[in-house]
Amino acid sequence: MKIPKIRRTFCPFCKTQTEHIVTIAKKRERGSLKKGSIARLMKRGSGKAGFGNHGKFSRKAISAWKRVGAKSSKKSDFRLKCKVCNKTQVKSSGSRAKKLTLEEAT
Ligand SMILES: [Zn+2]
Repeated sequence: MKIPKIRRTFCPFCKTQTEHIVTIAKKRERGSLKKGSIARLMKRGSGKAGFGNHGKFSRKAISAWKRVGAKSSKKSDFRLKCKVCNKTQVKSSGSRAKKLTLEEAT
């Protein structure tokens, strides 16, 4: 899927339509020492709460309990940077694409 590098869209900071530079956000690892990481683990059931070892010491093959490889495409994570105020907004995109390329607007 080809996406233009520059998109003219609404900027909530300038409150008008301005030109935005489109970038794709890179995937980052979630920090284990960050605030809320334990709370997140508790919510998912593999935290410190409960009983048992939560699969810490033995576990079935990952294909047996998790749907690995079910999807062949990924949803993109766009960041739009305003050319006027230099602020970035996150644009959630619902479309799936196997491959994304940013191209110059013609
Ligand atoms: Zn702006």
